[in-house]
Amino acid sequence: CLFSDLCSLESFLSGDFTVFALAGISLGVVVREYASLSHLYKQYFGFPGEILMRMLKLVILPLIISSMITGVAALDSEVSGKIGLRAVVYYFSTTIIAVVLGIILVMTIKPGVSQTAEHIDRAGTPPDVTTVDTLLDLLRNMFPENLVQACFQQNITKDYTIVGTYSDGVNVLGLIVFCVAFGLVIGKMGEKGRILLDFFDALNEATMKLVQIIMCYMPVGILFLIAAKIIEVEDWEIFRKMGLYMVTVLSGLAIHATVCLPLIFFVIVRKNPYTFTLGMAQALVTALMISSSSATLPVTFRCAEENNCIDKRITRFVLPVGATINMDGTALYEAVAAIFIAQLNDYALDVGQIVTISITATVASIGAAGVPNAGLVTMVIVLTAVGLPASDVTLIVAVDWLLDRFRTMINVLGDAYGAGIVQKLSKRELERMDLTSDMDVANP
Ligand code: ASP
Repeated sequence: CLFSDLCSLESFLSGDFTVFALAGISLGVVVREYASLSHLYKQYFGFPGEILMRMLKLVILPLIISSMITGVAALDSEVSGKIGLRAVVYYFSTTIIAVVLGIILVMTIKPGVSQTAEHIDRAGTPPDVTTVDTLLDLLRNMFPENLVQACFQQNITKDYTIVGTYSDGVNVLGLIVFCVAFGLVIGKMGEKGRILLDFFDALNEATMKLVQIIMCYMPVGILFLIAAKIIEVEDWEIFRKMGLYMVTVLSGLAIHATVCLPLIFFVIVRKNPYTFTLGMAQALVTALMISSSSATLPVTFRCAEENNCIDKRITRFVLPVGATINMDGTALYEAVAAIFIAQLNDYALDVGQIVTISITATVASIGAAGVPNAGLVTMVIVLTAVGLPASDVTLIVAVDWLLDRFRTMINVLGDAYGAGIVQKLSKRELERMDLTSDMDVANP
């Protein structure tokens, strides 16, 4: 009874997150204009938003573990191999398209050419991360030496702790590798593995019910999260200075979201891609408000399964992996930012260096975790690969909090489209599996 009450409340409250996001922006602007809050009061003001973030992060771990293990175990290894391969091909192709789009735009608009590096403040301490270190970290993280540690420690090298971005995260990549292997083994164990499979299946269902409850609180959390951010930002002037750079990144993201991804979806799935995007609206607004694909994952699952009717066997597999390695928005942003920094430094890039940027931006986006500002850290790979000073990442730090929100939104949209496309391409295998399980029921 309590649950059905919550559900009806939820359908009322979560009807349209956009309204609450806009209300949050207005509230932030009004409070900023008419009340000068002390640091302490600003913290109190942001408290409801902080609680939302904590609740979302809380369910990431059980959600990823239960969905990946049951997702992989439910498919036979041949089918999961095929689905995995399709997903990876999709991830790579769309990420490369995003990078190329970003490069074309930044080379055409040339946002860094009219300005000099002196016009933009260099802030903070330069992160001390080399390309090789970051690539090795990526591999290290895929094989955590301790599963429990992997659940609360994102990275194990000192470089990342200096930057600090990953300190409160989870080593999602490591967990995914473990869960895929564990799921495959359980799937092959037959009757003996059944008990584990049922356990993780029940865990998944219970976690999704928790997500449903969190969704009731989401509008309030979103409202305060954005309002608090607007009150907190100190230097709005920087947006004017960095205007053209921001326009380049944002137009690239917009073209990718409204033209490239929908076109690929339409060609393969033959359904209206914009209706599909609308179905993902709550997840997109959530991503925009919280800048984290991983923390948005619970909402992405719900939207994909309930609004866009994507098979759970696909979402459980494709979405968690996508939230970790498929980041079209981040890749596009990294390519644009690297060339922008080269332009600011009057540094002429040859064709080989542009190709290097496209490859390293792709790798860097895969290495970035689905947490706020992760792309800014892995961008050091791109800069050092073409001989630009890694410390120049500080040139774009001031506007990153805003761009991060939009690129996270595109990252989430890319994952969702990926699930839709992989479902379409795997239709035959899924139907065959349905048929086999129907026969199992008929002839126990
Ligand atoms: N915040 C992004 C995400 O979670 C990653 C990044 O580009 O910083 O998808």
